Amino acid sequence: MRKFGVHVSIEGGFSKAIERANALGCTTLQFFSHSPRSWQLADIQAEQARLFREEREKLGLGPVFIHACYLLTLSSEDTALREKSVWMLGEEMSRADIIGADYVVVHSGHSGNSETEEEEGDSILFIESIKSVLGKGKKSKKFKAGLLLENTAQAPPPGGPPSSMKALSRAVLESGAAGMCFDTCHGFASGYDVRTAEGLKLIAHQTEGVKMHLIHLNDAKGPLGSGLDRHEHLGKGGIGLEGFRNFLGFGPPFKGVPVIMETPKKDEGDDPMNLRTAKALLGP
Ligand SMILES: [Zn+2]
Ligand SMILES: [Zn+2]
Repeated sequence: MRKFGVHVSIEGGFSKAIERANALGCTTLQFFSHSPRSWQLADIQAEQARLFREEREKLGLGPVFIHACYLLTLSSEDTALREKSVWMLGEEMSRADIIGADYVVVHSGHSGNSETEEEEGDSILFIESIKSVLGKGKKSKKFKAGLLLENTAQAPPPGGPPSSMKALSRAVLESGAAGMCFDTCHGFASGYDVRTAEGLKLIAHQTEGVKMHLIHLNDAKGPLGSGLDRHEHLGKGGIGLEGFRNFLGFGPPFKGVPVIMETPKKDEGDDPMNLRTAKALLGP
């Protein structure tokens, strides 16, 4: 069965994240390595890293994904902010190596300019920033962990078919990143109909040659092409249960790729509910 899990908290220490995921019945997990809305970083103590590795080994969970913090603006035209973001992403990679996490996931952030002509410049700056983090070479030797670039919920060009996956694929191939993380909510919001073979074929076509390492399995509050980054419980949004069934039954590039849910957590029953749904969708 393919690996599945949810985004968990590291409150109480990194090893607690493993325990939380295991208690929920997850076989893989994702977490933030620090507060995602802060530039402050506390060093990871050797004892914490040791406990994390020990617990992971004992419970056999993985791969382990770290979600980079939300403040990163890797395509900003503000040089100081961009350099700070490059530094921070480097720290995220180092932290992954310290605890032995397998991947760091980062959004293919936008500078906030949605005009088409400025998108090109955004993507050049983004690729340059990733190269600076990874050390320019084709395949990074600087870090053990792999870097995954995630699609964002940008609205599709008016009238035209969506093409953001093509731009993201180019960024992966040119920057030396290990591959891609595909978020179903973001993909749906940016105009890719993940419910239909036609929509999925378009993604497969636009991501040719790029390795998919992770799926963020989230339903979407908004309709197809809304441009809204608002996650919903599985089956309760625009994608729906039937849509997810089609998505998960589709072949490459998604076949067998681990899934992590970043669905709403308003009360304690939410994660178990979405995990039950995911399990039923994934089958035996
Ligand atoms: Zn996501
Ligand atoms: Zn999102």
